[in-house]
Amino acid sequence: MKSSSIVALACGLVLALVCLAICPAPAPALAIDPPIVKKLISCVDMGRLKNVVRVLVNEFGPRHADHSVPFIDDKCTPRVQEPYPVNNAIMSGLWVEQYYQKLGYKVEKVPVPLGFKGAMGFNVVAVKKGTVYPNTYIDVMSHLDSEKNCPGAEDNAPGVAATMEIAAILADYPSRYSLRFIHTMGHEHEGMQDIGSMIHVSESLKRGEVIKVGIIIDGIAWVEPGVDTMNVLDYKGAESGRVADVICAAQKKYGIAINCRKDTYSLESDNFSYKFFNQTAVLSIGGVPFMHPVTKCLDVYSRLLDRSWQNVFLTTQLDLAGILELDAE
Ligand SMILES: [Zn+2]
Repeated sequence: MKSSSIVALACGLVLALVCLAICPAPAPALAIDPPIVKKLISCVDMGRLKNVVRVLVNEFGPRHADHSVPFIDDKCTPRVQEPYPVNNAIMSGLWVEQYYQKLGYKVEKVPVPLGFKGAMGFNVVAVKKGTVYPNTYIDVMSHLDSEKNCPGAEDNAPGVAATMEIAAILADYPSRYSLRFIHTMGHEHEGMQDIGSMIHVSESLKRGEVIKVGIIIDGIAWVEPGVDTMNVLDYKGAESGRVADVICAAQKKYGIAINCRKDTYSLESDNFSYKFFNQTAVLSIGGVPFMHPVTKCLDVYSRLLDRSWQNVFLTTQLDLAGILELDAE
């Protein structure tokens, strides 16, 4: 072989190596293992879901910056002794932070302004890096705060509990994408209009991260009239609709006994913030139109019905199965 050919060959080899380093071929979709998914969704535990809701409501409800003691009944009676040193919104956030720390997640508290009087709160963000796509995130989000004077048993303690349960089950799962569990503040604070999720999405994009999808869980204890169970996936845009299809398809694939449908209602929850920044998102909600069967002072733990708990349980299973399917892509 001539020396010029050897040089050309060597150059070609170097170029190929450089190209491989700069532009790696995308990893093929994983052939997902249905028995493993079935095993993981069978880990969803009603007792743990109920316990999270009970603590959020009885210890920290209303989870709002204007309160620093919990209500003790369904007449909005505040506990008289032992006010917390900080407001209920912060107290509940600290409790959620500890939960994720115990599971081994990297947890961050991101400051969020909660009103015009200088009140501050924070988003809790728990992250596990992906094994194949560490800079691409599957976000699972639920607002932690509740309305002023409302203990928030239905809106949105069950969404928080579902998110935390999914995180517990996936704590040791070697996800291909980075998983991020976010509990926002500001969703239910007057005049703040989803500020917690707006901060989350905008800061994430500023850091150059890629958001594969935001799955927002809110209102899942509500079942619409005429059916026993329901998970509606509200979406806008082609990719969000495709994600909704993937999640609904998991219902049949894994035999989860919940009705599922996608629709484009453009309902208002923290999915608004993803849409605002043209990001992919679906809202996982119990039924449409969304109505609170119990409101304000009456939104207490003891008034959640068996059918509501069943819907929370099955929605948690379905969203978990959907996340595993999306992670395999
Ligand atoms: Zn809500």
